[in-house]
Amino acid sequence: MDIMRSGARPSGKGPAEWFSGQVRIDQMWEAPAPARMRSAHVTFEPGARTAWHTHPLGQTLIVTSGLGWVQRDGGPVEEIRPGDMVWFAPGEKHWHGATATTGMSHLAVHEALDGSTVTWLEKVADADYGAGARR
Ligand code: MN
Repeated sequence: MDIMRSGARPSGKGPAEWFSGQVRIDQMWEAPAPARMRSAHVTFEPGARTAWHTHPLGQTLIVTSGLGWVQRDGGPVEEIRPGDMVWFAPGEKHWHGATATTGMSHLAVHEALDGSTVTWLEKVADADYGAGARR
């Protein structure tokens, strides 16, 4: 058993190459091999979101506060609320973030394949992101 105490790891900023707007990342578990589960609590200020990306073994999001938007490639922008859970299949191109006017936090749980949990792609264009407000 291992207990990671609150405050044991400092909060980080979402890197500008991979996120738009202000994003705080609180890393949680990086389970030792042979387990490969990793998790983080991610907080997006209004207007903030990830770039488009994929996860080699998929990802589960659990919304913990606020109001957010998610989109998979080719689908509509969809609203997510606290308690909602979202599954992205392995290789499914998508993004997630806050709405334009309300921040959002979620737990993100995913597994590493050969040490990698994510492949980053292009930023989400303002026009695509703004489609959430025109739903
Ligand atoms: Mn994701």
